[in-house]
Amino acid sequence: GIDVREARISAVTTSAGDIVAPAVFNCAGAWAGEVGKMAGLSVPVEPYPRNIFVTDRMPAVTRDHPMTIDMTTSFYFHPEGEGLLFGMGRSNETPSFDTQVDWSMLDAMAEVVERRAPSLGTAGVRTAWAGLYEMTPDHQPILGPVDDLDGFWCACGFSGHGFQQAPAVGHLLARCFLGEKPEVSLDVYAHRRFRTGVVEPERNVI
Ligand SMILES: Cc1cc2nc3c(=O)[nH]c(=O)nc-3n(C[C@H](O)[C@H](O)[C@H](O)COP(=O)(O)OP(=O)(O)OC[C@H]3O[C@@H](n4cnc5c(N)ncnc54)[C@H](O)[C@@H]3O)c2cc1C
Repeated sequence: GIDVREARISAVTTSAGDIVAPAVFNCAGAWAGEVGKMAGLSVPVEPYPRNIFVTDRMPAVTRDHPMTIDMTTSFYFHPEGEGLLFGMGRSNETPSFDTQVDWSMLDAMAEVVERRAPSLGTAGVRTAWAGLYEMTPDHQPILGPVDDLDGFWCACGFSGHGFQQAPAVGHLLARCFLGEKPEVSLDVYAHRRFRTGVVEPERNVI
């Protein structure tokens, strides 16, 4: 849990004991909404399961094949091991913490596979896994201090593209936390945007 005294963070309580903490970063990925609730805050991050499939060896695939994305459907593939890794989102997704592989995605992708990468349709699937995207309403991350609660910072809600943003976000947030001016303004990612309505939605989520 998170202890709040006089509208500021005072400590976190963990299974290993309490930790006095004048500042807390919410970097809980798909669980960031739950961690926000611990501090009495609305942090609009919802979990959306996503599946990844990896094929058996495909002799025609080389390591320098590019990552390829069909932006209309979000179907994508790129080399992985001796084959291809591929996946796609669903248009009618609902939030869930379920990370069981959804094998029905193979049928859902059949039409776009046939159209965009027909040889993929004849390859066997070697392995698959599912993880959680951590989606915000505008598909942008939530970064920086939260106005309503002193000492509560967010670094979450990367909406399925956090891995590539992590080095820059870590650097910029460290500068903000030290009271320095970051090289790139993080204002557009502030938690307050959900109150002010000033948002710049990310449209290219795959
Ligand atoms: C299938 C799939 C494919 C992806 N592909 C890409 C890609 O190609 N490129 C890209 O940039 N991104 C990709 N992503 C997204 C990327 O993985 C995430 O954006 C990134 O991992 C988010 O990092 P994070 O540190 O914010 O959260 P996480 O990596 O989820 O870490 C959050 C951590 O917080 C912990 N936690 C949660 N609640 C608590 C609590 N109460 N107490 C203590 N710890 C807690 C969790 O256990 C977890 O370890 C993909 C995601 C998925 C699911």
